[in-house]
Amino acid sequence: MTDLFHLTEDQLAIQDMARKFTADAITPHAAKWDEEHHFPVDVWRAAGQLGFGAIYVSEEMGGIGLGRLESALIFEAMSYGCPGTAAYISVHNMASWIIDSFGSAELKARLLPGLVTMEKLGSYCLTEPGSGSDAAALKTTARLASDSEGDHYVVNGTKQFITGGSVNDYYVTMVRTADNGAKGISCLVIEKDQEGVSFGAQEKKLGWNASPTCQVNFDNVRVPVANRVGGEGEGFKFAMAGLDGGRINIGACSLGGAQRALDEAIGYVKERSQFGKAIAEFQNTQFTLADMATDLEAARALLYLAAVKVTAGAPDKTRFAAMAKKLASENGSVIVDKALQMFGGYGYLRDYPIERFWRDLRVHRILEGTSEVMRMIIGRDLLK
Ligand SMILES: Cc1cc2nc3c(=O)[nH]c(=O)nc-3n(C[C@H](O)[C@H](O)[C@H](O)COP(=O)(O)OP(=O)(O)OC[C@H]3O[C@@H](n4cnc5c(N)ncnc54)[C@H](O)[C@@H]3O)c2cc1C
Repeated sequence: MTDLFHLTEDQLAIQDMARKFTADAITPHAAKWDEEHHFPVDVWRAAGQLGFGAIYVSEEMGGIGLGRLESALIFEAMSYGCPGTAAYISVHNMASWIIDSFGSAELKARLLPGLVTMEKLGSYCLTEPGSGSDAAALKTTARLASDSEGDHYVVNGTKQFITGGSVNDYYVTMVRTADNGAKGISCLVIEKDQEGVSFGAQEKKLGWNASPTCQVNFDNVRVPVANRVGGEGEGFKFAMAGLDGGRINIGACSLGGAQRALDEAIGYVKERSQFGKAIAEFQNTQFTLADMATDLEAARALLYLAAVKVTAGAPDKTRFAAMAKKLASENGSVIVDKALQMFGGYGYLRDYPIERFWRDLRVHRILEGTSEVMRMIIGRDLLK
């Protein structure tokens, strides 16, 4: 049983490993990746070697079988160097976990070995051009067909904003197999090289430049029935279950980014002098740092609690994951903005890392459910 106020020896060891990996493999290069829009595939593979591609995939299937608090610690540590890279690895974990948790024995045996090591990379495809927050309104169709080569689905439609799009190998895709809302949605794993799969241009984004994002198009793609995860009509349930953990991870990425911004700000205000003294000596600076640290610790405490609830399958886990994601992503944006203000004009320059974190953290309030959608989930659960 996790004592929420003290991390266990094992949790501290995992945190330490993730921090070392970040300091060596991510932090020194993150600004260059951002500038050059470089996707660090070699770093993803190195993360896979540490088990970070399958953090909560079962040990039986080769994963490291940890809980969501351990996962949060890893993503928090990695986002201290680069939130986009950490979040990319989170999405891969979400796709792998859906296959491990709900896929057939055959599908798991076929796909998971590559995903676990990150030799193969996984995407999560829910959003469409016409359905973002209203995800259950998705229109991509999968029509069951049969011919001499066996039963298969014929998939048509477009997925929007897909992390890992065009780079990744497997697309865990929510498709419509029946015309009855969320209950008509099924989950298929579609492979990159299947005929009829194509990709839009890489999106030009405000941040997350080390993470690929593009449209994924399906034009009469023939997908074997064996690639269906679970039964017909179960896809939306899997997609939402994946998001409980995904939201913990995205919130953790905000914590890591905000911690970095706070640490950078503390260092800077001691060095920078105005009016004959270090700006750290102004009470406004001290009060602002105090607010930043308090908001960060409050978000961290809620996020760790929510992570433990998701691991335990607590009845209120979805509400807690939504509350934690909302608080961490909103506080994270405010903290990094305050840090930028403390740097004055220099905070606006690429010479310092603050503006990159400011850009990277902004999207955490939008993806895997916007802050408004988080409020809807929380409100609905309170009033049920
Ligand atoms: C960089 C990036 C990576 C992404 N990666 C993935 C991915 O890998 N896989 C994937 O499936 N998706 C991904 N997404 C999509 C992301 O999850 C969606 O952008 C998000 O869910 C919001 O959908 P939308 O953009 O269509 O906005 P909309 O749903 O159109 O919302 C627009 C605005 O209206 C508000 N709004 C909508 N409905 C309500 C309501 N009922 N009440 C109050 N306000 C409301 C929203 O909060 C928002 O402010 C990614 C997005 C980005 C930007």
